[in-house]
Amino acid sequence: MTFDLASRLAARHADHLYRKRPLLEAPQGPEVVVDGKPVLAFSSNDYLGLANHPEVIRAMQQGAERWGVGGGASHLVIGHSTPHHALEEALADFTGRPRALLFSTGYMANLAAVTALVGQGDTVLEDRLNHASLLDAGLLSGARFSRYLHNDADSLAKRLEKATGDTLVVTDGVFSMDGDLADLPALCAAAKARDAWVMVDDAHGFGPLGGTGGGIVEHFGLGIDDVPVLVGTLGKAFGTAGAFVAGSDELIETLIQFARPYIYTTSQPPAVACASLKSLELLRGESWRRDHLNRLIARFRQGASDIGLTLMDSPTPIQPILVGSSERAMRLSALLRERGILVGAIRPPTVPAGSARLRITLTAAHSEAQVERLLDILAECWNRLAQEPFENA
Ligand code: PMP
Repeated sequence: MTFDLASRLAARHADHLYRKRPLLEAPQGPEVVVDGKPVLAFSSNDYLGLANHPEVIRAMQQGAERWGVGGGASHLVIGHSTPHHALEEALADFTGRPRALLFSTGYMANLAAVTALVGQGDTVLEDRLNHASLLDAGLLSGARFSRYLHNDADSLAKRLEKATGDTLVVTDGVFSMDGDLADLPALCAAAKARDAWVMVDDAHGFGPLGGTGGGIVEHFGLGIDDVPVLVGTLGKAFGTAGAFVAGSDELIETLIQFARPYIYTTSQPPAVACASLKSLELLRGESWRRDHLNRLIARFRQGASDIGLTLMDSPTPIQPILVGSSERAMRLSALLRERGILVGAIRPPTVPAGSARLRITLTAAHSEAQVERLLDILAECWNRLAQEPFENA
C-alpha cells in the first residue's frame, strides 16, 4: 500500500516516540497555562527572560506602527529596511566582527552558511551531536560529509587528514540537548593545523555565556581567526525571533550572493528587528540577568545531585536529567505534570537510543523559590518512579 501513514503513526505510538505539541494559552514565562491548566514551566529557551519585557514589547509595537507588520519582499528585492540594517550593525558590534547578516530563523542561517561555503569536491566535518539544522545543511551542501565523535578533537583531526577541497568544521557552541560546551580551543587548533574553517552555531550560548553575553567565543577568548563563521539565534536569549551570521565582509557578501536560503525568502518583519535591537541593548546592559541565572543553575545542580539524579556536564541553562528509556522519560514527565511542573521529555531520534531525558531549562525569569519547588517535586517523582517496574528501564 502506498502512503501507509496510519502504520507509521501507530509504530511511533508503540515506540513511545509520538510527539505532541503542548498548547500554550498564556504568554511565555515561568508560570504558564498549558492545555487549560496552570503549570510551572522549565522548558523555554527564553534564557534571560526578555520575551515578555515591556520595553521589548514596546519596541515591537512602535516598530509595527512605523514599519507595518510584514517584510514585504526578500532582502535583495525590497525587503531590507532600516531596522534590519541597524540590527545587523549592532550585532556586528556585539560580536566584534566586521559584519553580520540577519536571517528569519536559525535553521535557515545554518542551511545558508554551510551550503554557500562548501559544495561538491569540498568537505564538511560535523560533531555527531550537532543540531539537526547543521546536519541537514551538511547533507544538502553536496560536500563530502562526515561526523566526528562528540567534542573529540582527535577524532576530528583524523577526519581532517582525509579531507579534500575547502574544509568546514561545524559545531554547536552549546549542545542543545546536553547543555555541554564545545571544546573550541582544541577543535579550532585541529582545524587551523589543516587550514580548515570553523563554523560555530552558538544558538544557546549568546546571552548566558561570556562576560558580556557574547557567547562561547567570548567565554574562551577566541577571535575571528579561530572561528571565521559565527551563528547566533534571536529566538532564545534575545526573546524575539530570527538569527544572524557574523564574520568578515567577504563572508557576508558571499552569503548575500550565493546563499539560497537567504536570497529566496521574505525578510523578517522589521518590527521584529526593532524588538531584537531593544533586547540586545538589555542583554548587554543588564548583567544581573546572567548573574541570577548562574545562581539558579548552581542551585539546581547541587539540589539535583543531592536527590541522586544523573545530570550532564553542563554549566549552561540546559540541565538535562538522564532517564534512559523513552517510556520512563515519558512517565517521569507525566508525574511532574500531574504535580504542576512542565518539562519536556526528549527522546530518540533527537537524542541517541537509551538516553531519553527530561530537558530542564532555567531562565532569569525563574525565582529561587520556583527552583526549590522544582527540586522538591522532582525528588518526590523520582522516588515514585523507582518503585514502578519498567521493561526497558
Ligand atoms: N541551532 C541550534 C543549536 C538550535 O537549538 C536551534 C533551535 N532549537 C536552531 C539552531 C534553530 O534556530 P531557530 O529556532 O531560530 O530556527
